[in-house]
Amino acid sequence: MTQKISFFSTQSYDKSFFEKYNDNFGFELEFFEVQLNFRTVDLIKNTAIVCVFVNDVVDAEVIEKLAEKGVKIIALRCAGFNNVDLVAAKKSGIRVCRVPSYSPEAVAEHAMAMILTLNRKTHKAYNRVREQNFSLNGLLGFDLHGKTVGIIGTGNIGKAFAKIVLGFGCKVLAFDISKDQEIEKLGVRYETLETIFKSADIISLHCPLNDKTKHMINKSSLSQMKDNIMLINTSRGGLINTPDIIEALKDAKVGYLGIDVYEQEEKLFFKDLSEDIIQDDDIQRLMSFPNVLVTAHQAFFTNEALTQIATTTFENVSNLITRNDIDNKAALLN
Ligand code: NAD
Repeated sequence: MTQKISFFSTQSYDKSFFEKYNDNFGFELEFFEVQLNFRTVDLIKNTAIVCVFVNDVVDAEVIEKLAEKGVKIIALRCAGFNNVDLVAAKKSGIRVCRVPSYSPEAVAEHAMAMILTLNRKTHKAYNRVREQNFSLNGLLGFDLHGKTVGIIGTGNIGKAFAKIVLGFGCKVLAFDISKDQEIEKLGVRYETLETIFKSADIISLHCPLNDKTKHMINKSSLSQMKDNIMLINTSRGGLINTPDIIEALKDAKVGYLGIDVYEQEEKLFFKDLSEDIIQDDDIQRLMSFPNVLVTAHQAFFTNEALTQIATTTFENVSNLITRNDIDNKAALLN
């Protein structure tokens, strides 16, 4: 029997990549544009498999409903899984899988793109030259060569990012709860968080969001950092306490902020709100700073990553259906 997968938060590119790579698998695909949450869960009918993304709300309440409807598999088409209540899923007998690694280079390269844009102000130069303004005033940058970069979290993405910044001639310090010997051999030095806060010119966040890391960038950690610090977050919005970072930007403690993720992003990102009045005052304030660059969770968005996301998601689901297991243990969350 053909198995149906119901997708939530579907964008046109999800549809085209999943349809393209379904030839080898032959699933029936059903696409909903809406986010999965308590209000939309009733759209699900006659399906044992749901496929969700970063901002779908898969809490205990939603999971209870999914179980009532006979859902057996929740397939995340992303790496982070902070939006899924794994304990509730386990209790309900629902297996949860994810795509643990899909082109970590895509995210690491985007983090570097943010650094280069904030530093060399190419976004401003682009607009300026189009208006025949060839002046350099206000575009002054700094050499990355020789600067100290602190990386928090050296998993797949942090490691790819470490190699990029080493290539730029930076001194690289890292903090992780477990060390990676490959990057140590390349010249990365593991340090305490405090040392990184104190010594880094640029800090890039690549650890997951959990109880230990939530709001790790806050008033106290910001106060330990160098003045004019550059902070880059391509991981999860909840790593940063937003009111605290706004204060630090106003005080010029933070000199540059690049965020691809935002704690309240589920109401904003992946949508065209150009005709709407945005009610979120924090994002409006952040976007008003000339030294803040916001991208809307696009770090993963490359052809290679979308290909891997589609094929790995289908493989995960096939493996769970045929033998209730997945070889890549990092893909199976419960
Ligand atoms: P990963 O699991 O390979 O690496 C995470 C690393 O963080 C691990 O080495 C882990 O030991 C470390 N870590 C865990 N707790 C920590 C702590 N308290 N302090 C410091 N380090 C800690 O994950 P990854 O593939 O490198 O992804 C990292 C994060 O990037 C994901 O959690 C996800 O939230 C985010 N992400 C964002 C995008 C995007 O498009 N912006 C895309 C993919 C992933």
